[in-house]
Amino acid sequence: MTPEKHVEVWNRCLDILRDNLQEDTFKTWFGPIKPISLEDQRLTIEVPSDFWREYIEEHFLGILSKIVRREIGPSATLMYKVRILDDIFIEQRPKGRTVRNAELPIPDAGEHYTGSVYAIPGIRKLNIEPCLNPIYNFENFIEGTCNRLGRSAGLSIAANPGRSTFNPLFIYGGPGLGKTHLAQAIGIAVKERFPEKVVLYVGANTFQNQYMNAACSAKNANNGNKVADFLRFYQLIDVLIIDDVQEFAEKKGTQGAFFHIFNYLHQSGKQLILTSDKPPVDLQGLDQRLLSRFKWGLSAELLPPAYETRLAILKSKCAREGVEISEDVLAFVARSVKSNIRELEGILFSLMANATFSKEAITLDLAQRLVDKIVTDPKSEISVARIQEAVCNYFGISDELFLSKTRKREIVQARQIAMYLSRNLTKTSLSSIGAQLGGKDHATVLHACNTVGDLMDTDRSFRGFVHDIERQLNTPE
Ligand code: ADP
Ligand code: MG
Repeated sequence: MTPEKHVEVWNRCLDILRDNLQEDTFKTWFGPIKPISLEDQRLTIEVPSDFWREYIEEHFLGILSKIVRREIGPSATLMYKVRILDDIFIEQRPKGRTVRNAELPIPDAGEHYTGSVYAIPGIRKLNIEPCLNPIYNFENFIEGTCNRLGRSAGLSIAANPGRSTFNPLFIYGGPGLGKTHLAQAIGIAVKERFPEKVVLYVGANTFQNQYMNAACSAKNANNGNKVADFLRFYQLIDVLIIDDVQEFAEKKGTQGAFFHIFNYLHQSGKQLILTSDKPPVDLQGLDQRLLSRFKWGLSAELLPPAYETRLAILKSKCAREGVEISEDVLAFVARSVKSNIRELEGILFSLMANATFSKEAITLDLAQRLVDKIVTDPKSEISVARIQEAVCNYFGISDELFLSKTRKREIVQARQIAMYLSRNLTKTSLSSIGAQLGGKDHATVLHACNTVGDLMDTDRSFRGFVHDIERQLNTPE
């Protein structure tokens, strides 16, 4: 098998370089470079980091240009693909210079090159893939009371990234409620409006891995600039979206790097969008200075959607998939899954799949069978509202009294039990639990959880009440 053209050409360039450089120098700097492509006399090579690129330009650009032109032709161009982070590359021409024009004087090997007339400012166009899923756009994001604040903040950011008061925008809420979708929709809208802006979506875990790789390779090798490259790369972003920042908990190094990036971007008027499964006050294991910055902008909670919103989401999905499903089936599905939009969609998709494979019509009966099969874990359906209902039933208290301002001991205790159970049996944030159980703040909920925890340890009959209610909640209705 003959090697591909770009490999062949690059190997010939290497042969000449080897003859002209000291063995060690050659191996160190050219060994790790990979040829990527050769198109229209444009040779692209991949270099391990931005630092590498700078070094090569400073020391070898002269000889490299000469060789490349000799091997490819007088109008040859050289492009770098810089491996900035593990899976992110930028492509650029040699900085401020071009090797295109044969008439340009070519500096000799080793000669220090001083830019001047060949400098082409602005040529370093960044080409960073934003990593956005086009399906997660605003059009597909159904509005409801559950997401109104976040959605409208998102729209105003899209119109004016970095310049609105919503910086950072901190989106939080339970699983499957649309955090990722909303955050990406903002990125997509920015890209549509301002194509030149550099938008990047990255999961907190990916960010953490990138940082760790940079930090580890800095320790091992003669290349102490990996962390600097990492920071510099993130400083190039105009709209940075980091999903699931709760994953940064206890990761000190990553938090430090992110703190640095956050400050730089915020000061430069760049937009930050963060998502988390909890509000900033409930995030444990995160540095206080980060948490205080998370609160600088706007925190918007995504709540479980109401029935009408669930139905609207189902209808919108059907329209997009081009599938017709009768209103009563959709209504049934919307009623069966209450607290997680991902699960809601899951049921709809299995309904469609089942109907396709078994050539069965999508009937209420089929929907019923699927829901029974899929929505099996009653635990996943426990919501703050159901807990309140169970506690009120158990103690024979009306909803009004439960939610009223009364400080009567038995009512206060019932509220505290509901808060304790909500914290342990749902993924709802403390502040959201407080808001749903009589408009209390997160500190009150935390205090209630501690009080109930203490009583459970010391009072047997009290422990009995709590266990009874918990058992009822875990028994399917
Ligand atoms: P999270 O990140 O909060 O866990 P996702 O953003 O991944 O949740 O949302 C789960 C699924 O629900 C996705 O497929 C998303 O498209 C859908 N979804 C969430 N909110 C909405 C909405 N308001 N309208 C339409 N689809 C939604
Ligand atoms: Mg998500």
